Amino acid sequence: MAEVQLRAVRKSFGAVEVIKGVDLRVPSGDFCVFVGPSGCGKSTLLRMIAGLEEVTDGQVLIGGRDVTDAEPSRRGIAMVFQNYALYPHMTVAQNIGFGLSLAKRPKAEIEDRVRHAADILQLSHLLDRKPKALSGGQRQRVAIGRAIVRDPKVFLFDEPLSNLDASLRAEMRLELAELHGRLDATMIYVTHDQVEAMTMADRIVVLNGGRIEQTGAPMDLYRHPATPFVAGFLGSPR
Ligand code: ADP
Ligand code: MG
Repeated sequence: MAEVQLRAVRKSFGAVEVIKGVDLRVPSGDFCVFVGPSGCGKSTLLRMIAGLEEVTDGQVLIGGRDVTDAEPSRRGIAMVFQNYALYPHMTVAQNIGFGLSLAKRPKAEIEDRVRHAADILQLSHLLDRKPKALSGGQRQRVAIGRAIVRDPKVFLFDEPLSNLDASLRAEMRLELAELHGRLDATMIYVTHDQVEAMTMADRIVVLNGGRIEQTGAPMDLYRHPATPFVAGFLGSPR
């Protein structure tokens, strides 16, 4: 696990500034949720932490190391996306181990790590199946397995459950919370869903228009919203 720190981070696309100076420290081992309405900059912020988007100004630190200009593969992070795509012609084991195969890791090591990830995700009995023979939740777990095999210090999730139906989403929320306990990792989870944020987070970061409105534990924000926006967004009692 590692701490993630943002220092005065800004991002512009052309002349349009979409992240307007974000300072944040996510402590090592935290389950931190970025929440806010569509277009507020959640994905852009996450992608800058991952190194998939260039930082216009400011710094990104992971585990105390300045990674602002580091390649994504050198940051010790793994990202799980909203639109995860599994390779239909590969088995579950091959899908989970694909990144390691690309990186030319030894076969025995790949098998070992895939087995470990499958064990954590309760996919061990499905390793020889193809994606089309899996349920939606099982497919989502395979996508998470791909992140786990790389043994990252920080997991980044961008609305990973938004393509699932409501009951499966509720189940996966619990599974992810459990996973966080088992892996002892720092997790940053992006969602526009207040319920997801309130139920999953150790710490919530409420974003609005490219700025942080408020940061804190779910119940603290709910009971003591700093702005009318936070109160409205989290449905705090008046
Ligand atoms: P969220 O994930 O909270 O919905 P995003 O981070 O995707 O928001 O987007 C924040 C803002 O930046 C939006 O106004 C979006 O249109 C804009 N944006 C995102 N990516 C690009 C891009 N590649 N080029 C131009 N504008 C972008
Ligand atoms: Mg987004």
